[in-house]
Amino acid sequence: MTDRYCVFGNPVAHSKSPTIHARFAAITQQDMDYEKRLAPLDGFTASVHAFIAAGGRGANVTVPFKEQAFRLCSRLSQRAERAGAVNTLLFEGEEVLGDNTDGAGLVRDITHNLSFDLTGRRILLLGAGGAARGTLEPLLAAQPASLFVANRSADKAEALAAFFNSVITVNGGNFAKIAGKSFDLIINATSASLAGQTLPLPPGIFAAGSLAYDMMYGKGDTPFMQQARAQGAERCADGLGMLVEQAAEAFALWRKVRPETAAVLADLRTQINA
Ligand code: NDP
Repeated sequence: MTDRYCVFGNPVAHSKSPTIHARFAAITQQDMDYEKRLAPLDGFTASVHAFIAAGGRGANVTVPFKEQAFRLCSRLSQRAERAGAVNTLLFEGEEVLGDNTDGAGLVRDITHNLSFDLTGRRILLLGAGGAARGTLEPLLAAQPASLFVANRSADKAEALAAFFNSVITVNGGNFAKIAGKSFDLIINATSASLAGQTLPLPPGIFAAGSLAYDMMYGKGDTPFMQQARAQGAERCADGLGMLVEQAAEAFALWRKVRPETAAVLADLRTQINA
């Protein structure tokens, strides 16, 4: 019987996950089906249990259900535990296993697809919402020199920095706190680009050879990428690679085989820019 997977979200119509997983299944010759499932805002848990009862083997979870998914799991990976959010579910008998592949996807895109080594780098993470939190553990595991979390609401950045501060120094504050500092990698994990807004970034924060990375993606450069280029970032990238790589990580968890991503990413890029 064909194994069934899905993505739960609300809204979910825009999701590219079915396209990505169908390509991965074809590449790795897996007999599986992957669909979109619109869960009611007050009915996420019931939707997951209905899918399990119908033979579902696993699922992705997107906005706004990642924290609810975290609470629903009977077991969590360490990175999901630290992220406080789950984007990948695996159903095994009575168990619902939860993982968070967003951070691993981001790190893989930066280090592998963009060939940017994170070791010893000074990282600035803009934003302190779910996406920022989910990526901190994998970013720190790549052994940067330091990491600063800057956010519009300083208290959220400070709390996140305190939670993740370790052998690698993690500091946090509002955007004014980064004045006079410079960074090798600046990641935009705010949703400002979604609203077409730019961020109050002080001048001089992009070091020579720096990479500016926007988790948002779309046709052409995002507002953040345009701003970063104008302020001196040497290279810019959007989050389409992160999207494909987090999917590959989830696929590997479910199917025990890691799909090649390069052609899938290139085709998605062509579709988006068409
Ligand atoms: P959240 O709603 O959890 O957090 C939003 C963050 O953006 C907060 O830190 C908020 O600051 C900040 N923010 C919102 N508007 C502005 C603004 N105008 N100026 C400054 N800061 C602002 O969202 P997520 O963390 O879930 O998502 C963040 C982004 O990451 C989205 O663009 C999303 O599409 C993207 N993403 C991409 C993925 C991928 O695979 N490529 C995966 C996951 C997310 P404050 O705390 O002050 O409100």
